[in-house]
Amino acid sequence: MRQKTSTTSIILNLDINKFILNLENDTLILNESVSPDIAICIDYYLQNDFNTLIVKENLVCDECGSKLSKNGTDKLILNKKKNIKLQKYKCSNKKCQKYYKVSLLEFIDKSCNYSKNIRQQGLELDSIDHSSYDKKSEIIEKHTSVKIPRSTIYYHEKSLSKQFIINEENKIQEEVLKSKIQPSGIYHYDEQYEFINTELYLRMTILDNKNNLIINEKLVSHKEFNKKTIQNFLEKSLDKHPIKAIITDGNNYYPSIIESLGAIHQNCAFHKMQNLMTEVIKKLNKYQRQIKNAEIQIEKNTTRIKELKKENKGKTGRIHLKDKKKQKRQEKIRKLEKETRTLKDTRWKNKAKIKELEKYVKKISLIFKSKTIKTAKKRFQELQNKKDELPKVISSFIKKLSKNIEKTLQHIIHEEIPKTNNKIECYYKTTMPRYIKKIFRTKEGFIRQMKLQQIRWTKRNVLNTNQKKT
Ligand SMILES: [Zn+2]
Repeated sequence: MRQKTSTTSIILNLDINKFILNLENDTLILNESVSPDIAICIDYYLQNDFNTLIVKENLVCDECGSKLSKNGTDKLILNKKKNIKLQKYKCSNKKCQKYYKVSLLEFIDKSCNYSKNIRQQGLELDSIDHSSYDKKSEIIEKHTSVKIPRSTIYYHEKSLSKQFIINEENKIQEEVLKSKIQPSGIYHYDEQYEFINTELYLRMTILDNKNNLIINEKLVSHKEFNKKTIQNFLEKSLDKHPIKAIITDGNNYYPSIIESLGAIHQNCAFHKMQNLMTEVIKKLNKYQRQIKNAEIQIEKNTTRIKELKKENKGKTGRIHLKDKKKQKRQEKIRKLEKETRTLKDTRWKNKAKIKELEKYVKKISLIFKSKTIKTAKKRFQELQNKKDELPKVISSFIKKLSKNIEKTLQHIIHEEIPKTNNKIECYYKTTMPRYIKKIFRTKEGFIRQMKLQQIRWTKRNVLNTNQKKT
């Protein structure tokens, strides 16, 4: 027989109902081992306001083994939203008469208005993307129908974040171990500048190139930051791990530190090219500007010449000596034509300079793209041999590069070493996008977001990708 689907029968269709809930006379009866938040959920989805009663699971006295009988109820306002009743009991054995109450301590901390689950929502949201307390309040209300003022969300995060992050980190650590993901020996290292409330900090990061694992990450005030800071950080973080190679950008501190660690040092080729391009682009812009100015002037001159010629009735041949006006115009035309030739020459020269620069940029980038170290060195040598004929930006770049050319070519010698430090750039952009960076007013707030995002990165880029492979 087909039953008419009332709100009641929807619930009874759920499989879980047997041990977690019963619905009698519009009263939702929940076991104390089930989160009372489910009452709010059910109200929300069924658009009802059920009376809710929480009962004990085991109705036997633990002193004498007799049955417990009901003995009135306590009231509780759950999440400042819903009135629920908590069943009280008394042992039915007249000699014992022990009193019992249901306990929700698993779900609601003592003297808290909100359940643990609700109090954690702000942090759960931050572990996906950072949002303001106002937005969090809105999102939580939309998803749970529980309204929490922004100040309360702030307070919850402050008191819960430490433990929340430790729990999440432990969970993820366990999964990493279970998946047998281990440091590979090839690491990216970098620092990022972070301004927190106008104070400058450096975020130091070691990222495993092979499995994307964050080996270590730390935020240090620039006042405490020096070569020793990097050295200690790298030494301590990599102490128990294999060390083959470290990829960095071109900071002067790195070479000796990395050498002392016994690692191969690869300088990011992308950064090298970027340094070159900053200088080259300045020049290119200058040449482009000159070309444009010349072209504007050429056009003006051409128009003026045309006008003058028209005024001279197109007669460009011999001019009668007495015709002073005509002569003057003719003089002017000659001057303008000469100027235009010079301008055209400037334009041509600038175009040639641009072509030349572009040619050398290409040649330099080919060094890093070489298939063999022999080719790379040959390409570099060719440029160095004619350093006197090179444009100045190119020759000074080559001079600088000659000091550490070996360090930018390690990726060619060792197939497993990446060419660039782009992976760590990508990590920074993903975990702390530009629009979020400036939001933080305290170091603690920044570190919290950094850690939450590191957990997210590990879930998505270490564990997920690894599981896909197997
Ligand atoms: Zn008893």
